[in-house]
Amino acid sequence: MSPLADDLARLVGADWVEAPVADRGWLQDGTESAAVVGAAEAVVRPGTAEEVRDVVRWAGAHRVPLVPRGGGTGYAAGAVPVLGSVVVSLDRLRSVRERRPERWSIAVEAGVTTAEVRRLAREDALWFPPDPGAGEQSQIGGNVATNAGGPHCFKYGVTGRWVMALEAVLGTGELVRTGAGLPKDVSTLDLRSLLVGSEGALGIVTAVWLRLIPEPEARLPVLAVFGSARDGADAVSLAMASGVVPSALEFLDRGAIEAARATYPGVLPADAEFAVLAEADGTLTGATAERDLIADMLRPTASDLIAPGPDEAAPIWAWRDGVSLGVLARHGGKLSEDIAVPVDRLAEAVLAVRALGDEIGLETTSWGHAGDGNLHASFMFDRSDPRQLERATAAAPRLFALARSLGGSITGEHGVGRFKAEAAAEQDPALLAVQARLKAVLDPHGIMNPGAKVPPG
Ligand SMILES: Cc1cc2nc3c(=O)[nH]c(=O)nc-3n(C[C@H](O)[C@H](O)[C@H](O)COP(=O)(O)OP(=O)(O)OC[C@H]3O[C@@H](n4cnc5c(N)ncnc54)[C@H](O)[C@@H]3O)c2cc1C
Repeated sequence: MSPLADDLARLVGADWVEAPVADRGWLQDGTESAAVVGAAEAVVRPGTAEEVRDVVRWAGAHRVPLVPRGGGTGYAAGAVPVLGSVVVSLDRLRSVRERRPERWSIAVEAGVTTAEVRRLAREDALWFPPDPGAGEQSQIGGNVATNAGGPHCFKYGVTGRWVMALEAVLGTGELVRTGAGLPKDVSTLDLRSLLVGSEGALGIVTAVWLRLIPEPEARLPVLAVFGSARDGADAVSLAMASGVVPSALEFLDRGAIEAARATYPGVLPADAEFAVLAEADGTLTGATAERDLIADMLRPTASDLIAPGPDEAAPIWAWRDGVSLGVLARHGGKLSEDIAVPVDRLAEAVLAVRALGDEIGLETTSWGHAGDGNLHASFMFDRSDPRQLERATAAAPRLFALARSLGGSITGEHGVGRFKAEAAAEQDPALLAVQARLKAVLDPHGIMNPGAKVPPG
């Protein structure tokens, strides 16, 4: 073993250090289909928060970059390691620290998967609303680090809203807990919010105290299909004016509909240019009334409308989770950017993405969280043709420019990672300088996920 691996083995045990890195899986993440591969000196898998702290202190003393890794499902290459770095995998931090259904709360370690958090909540007749699409693989620590969203975050808010407190090892090597883990606690500066969405650039999340709520009795989806993106996007605005808050308000354009047609649990109308998937939840009576109101708003311009029963909600959401993989399967490669725009500019964004694809000769599609104005704008390409990937990569900055020109953001939920580092550097210099100063305080040696999230000031 190398001296570096020997040091790490002394901290966590030789069984939990891999050096040289034999498994290429550690060097990639959800951006794998866009051929993004990193390099690392070692992978270390600490088993406790204290071991994470020891690794961070060691790295600070030796100025070794650390790249925290959750489930590796991120779409911004934030968990793809940089040359000379050590990957810190949180997969062994899987304990449930506290389970308090009477308080509507649970505390789990960072390596517990999103799906497991939701299962644990359900066992106690409670619900953890954030539902990012790769829940069986993604970890709650990764969800917190990216402030992940998902279909039901339209009504219920993204991951950070459900985090009452965090335990984390900061880049300084300090192991801290940000508060009591109560719904209300304003006893300190809000370090919790600073760490949420920080993508491993300030420290490593080791445990989270989550708020839960009772699970709604019924979920009633509505799927409406439209003959044009403009009609569909206008219907989204109408649904938002219906007077109810849909529990989810999603969309798929023509490309996504075709990519996911085969897996839909039913029959999707032919010739669909745009689909809106909305849902109402609550008591059966309340949800039925709300679903009907939403349907009334979607129906006038829809070419078809399906209102499945409560038993069909779970298969429909399982199908919706698979859209991303369906798009990937079309040509073997996809480059997806999760730009966000004001909801009333959704149609413009969808049409502009399509026009850009036509210009560069690649099939494109957009789908995502319509109510949040959050698109997964994607170029599909044949993986065996490197020129197609080059064209997609070269066009990605134009998606960011498009989002900005519509008053939006370069990323609504996947984060900056390394993929969008250049685009993130094109922001207000004063803001960038403050960010850089904050990073310098919490990560004085610059070892925490360098190059990700926080551009140099
Ligand atoms: C099929 C599919 C569907 C998806 N759907 C959604 C969706 O609906 N909404 C959404 O928001 N995202 C979605 N994603 C993206 C991804 O699942 C989320 O970003 C998720 O939160 C990443 O979690 P992870 O554990 O896989 O993190 P990773 O990919 O391992 O890491 C992501 C970032 O967080 C950092 N990190 C990870 N763990 C920690 C930790 N414990 N402490 C500090 N930093 C850490 C990493 O360094 C990296 O910068 C999807 C991905 C796939 C593949």
